[in-house]
Amino acid sequence: MCGTYEVIVTKSPCSDNQAPDSNGSTPNHVRTNGIAPHHHHPQPIVSLDHGDPTMYEEYWKKAGQRCSVTMSGFQSLSYFGDGKTLCWFMEKKLEDEIRKLHKVAGNAVVDGKHIVVGTGSSQLILAALYALAYTLDIPNPVDVISAAPYYSSYPEMIEFLRTGLFKWSGDARCFDKDVPYIEFVTSPNNPDGSTREATVMNRGELGMLVHDLAYYWPQYTAITSAADHDLMLFTASKCTGHAGSRIGWAVVRDENVARKMVKFIEMNTIGVSKEAQLRSASVMELISLSCQKRKPCDVENFFDYSQCTLADRWKRLRDVVTKNQLFSLPKFPANYCNFRREVVETYPAFAWMKCKEGIDGERLLREHKIGTRSGRRFGCEADYVRISMLSRDEDFDLFLHRLSTIQPTANGNQN
Ligand code: PMP
Repeated sequence: MCGTYEVIVTKSPCSDNQAPDSNGSTPNHVRTNGIAPHHHHPQPIVSLDHGDPTMYEEYWKKAGQRCSVTMSGFQSLSYFGDGKTLCWFMEKKLEDEIRKLHKVAGNAVVDGKHIVVGTGSSQLILAALYALAYTLDIPNPVDVISAAPYYSSYPEMIEFLRTGLFKWSGDARCFDKDVPYIEFVTSPNNPDGSTREATVMNRGELGMLVHDLAYYWPQYTAITSAADHDLMLFTASKCTGHAGSRIGWAVVRDENVARKMVKFIEMNTIGVSKEAQLRSASVMELISLSCQKRKPCDVENFFDYSQCTLADRWKRLRDVVTKNQLFSLPKFPANYCNFRREVVETYPAFAWMKCKEGIDGERLLREHKIGTRSGRRFGCEADYVRISMLSRDEDFDLFLHRLSTIQPTANGNQN
């Protein structure tokens, strides 16, 4: 180690948190060691490629020990959870807190539905595809589609697996076959933050839908109604910020589909870590408490805190983008939010930024030491990039500073 900085080559989890260099396009993540890099060393890249929710650390620091979980050596040895539902490895406390939190946020109908816990919603994406495709029981792999720009992990996970049950078939808007299919409806959408409905609505019985509602929480968007779809996916990663716990859950109407999803998880990992389940439950419990008018403790409303932080970041980003004129950002409608009981703006977890025609956004920003994910990974052109809004303050500040120094030149390009 040269004493000034260390180079961290991130290992490669499969989803959004994929190693920055895993497709060979982005340089290694370089982390300063608390010491300013020596002037002849390259500046560290500020990596906003993954949707790593470290923004939430500040809130949880303030919450202190309120949701700390300690476990003795004799606890949670069993493969089995202590609940009585078909998801036999789920802890009852987690199920209770999931149901409570949905009622507090008003974002999903959970009564009469099954909850299935997974190792992140990533595992549940595959479990859902397995369950739906298996139930269809057709000789050819089922087509899986999603409207572009779609979450980059859908094609990546499916193509990686090379299963005979389902196959990736791209942009839902271009899908015109008269065969059964599964459509991912991601709302609000990753990467562009838009509110979405199923694309191919007029296909009657042929289509099955998976609603990926990872971002349908009050800090990101207005909660306009309690979602009541057949199969909905949620994740602690984007709700509470605890991506490291790897807890996701599915809300499933059909018992057979829920059972098949449980079977998939049983075959994969024989359940989900009890430590992670109990910690997530305790974190969710505190969030629900923080939303009460008369709280037993003085914790700030979690959704207010996170929405304020995101609103401030979005405002500052829009100011920089307006000034330098090389980029544009989507606009979002304000809507009445049932949770907040007022009209609220949308503050997505990602900025979907378009560069001036013909400029490769990822490359341009990388030259300015900003790591982003190219539009190509989401089924779009290279002039789009996705930028995480959920980083730590210091990284976000550095990003804005660097972005503000990129200037258009007289010939329309940038320096
Ligand atoms: N769905 C969407 C739309 C996501 O953005 C993510 C994470 N980036 C996931 C699912 C997976 O989340 P996790 O596996 O961390 O629960």
